[in-house]
Amino acid sequence: MPELPEVETTRRILEPYLLGQRIQKLLHQDPARYRHTERAEGRKVLGTSRRGKYLILQLDQGLEAIIHLGMTGGFRFEPHRHTRVTLVLPQQTLYYTDPRRFGKWWVVEAGDYREIGLLGRMGPEPLSPDFTPVGFKQALAQTRRKIKEVLLSQEAVAGVGNIYADESLWLSKIHPERPAHTLSPAEVKRLHRAIREVMGQAVEAGGSTLSDESYQQPNGEPGYFQFAHKAYDRTGQPCRRRGCKGRIVKMVVGGRGTHFCPVCQQNSR
Ligand SMILES: [Zn+2]
Repeated sequence: MPELPEVETTRRILEPYLLGQRIQKLLHQDPARYRHTERAEGRKVLGTSRRGKYLILQLDQGLEAIIHLGMTGGFRFEPHRHTRVTLVLPQQTLYYTDPRRFGKWWVVEAGDYREIGLLGRMGPEPLSPDFTPVGFKQALAQTRRKIKEVLLSQEAVAGVGNIYADESLWLSKIHPERPAHTLSPAEVKRLHRAIREVMGQAVEAGGSTLSDESYQQPNGEPGYFQFAHKAYDRTGQPCRRRGCKGRIVKMVVGGRGTHFCPVCQQNSR
């Protein structure tokens, strides 16, 4: 599932093709999933941004196109058999592909996110100065849910999904089932730093492409951060922490497959 690094990589690659361009046509056959898109036709793209896992195109006349890539959404420069939306620009047509069709588009008045539940109530961006250890501590203190579930909820920090939650918890040596409010100040600080480090490195690496190869950069190139994974998708393999003799195990937390090292991420409740 595309998380912050994959969405940010997509945004950076697409931006030069979008900026200043007028959308000639936005074609699809699913108005329930790709909503109000007729409003984008004829509009000029003034900017691109990202909030959590949402890609945002700022359009003229005070509109925004909001795109959530769902489980398998992505963009291509070439036609593709799973194309769901075709974005026709004067110099380059972009093909939005989504084999499993969990992704969604909305074209709305800028800032009107009433139809897009999560977008209006997400925590801070992990790579922005708004994400502070103090604010993070306050957010975690308010909930008795497991830390992994809190990370996935997007409410304490935006953009962290299953891969980067497992990687950040491994890096900070925190068991994924620890109730969030029990994390010590030192643990919160470690987790805060780990999230920033993992996200920053994953963006630099162009995101993670897993064995299903569902995520590709728009030019068809994979991401490369999967080679740096320490926990995610490494079930049964030796822990990569220096001196640790553990092996990565998988269990289900909050309905999601969760990978961690039972030796260096002990549940010390
Ligand atoms: Zn370990």
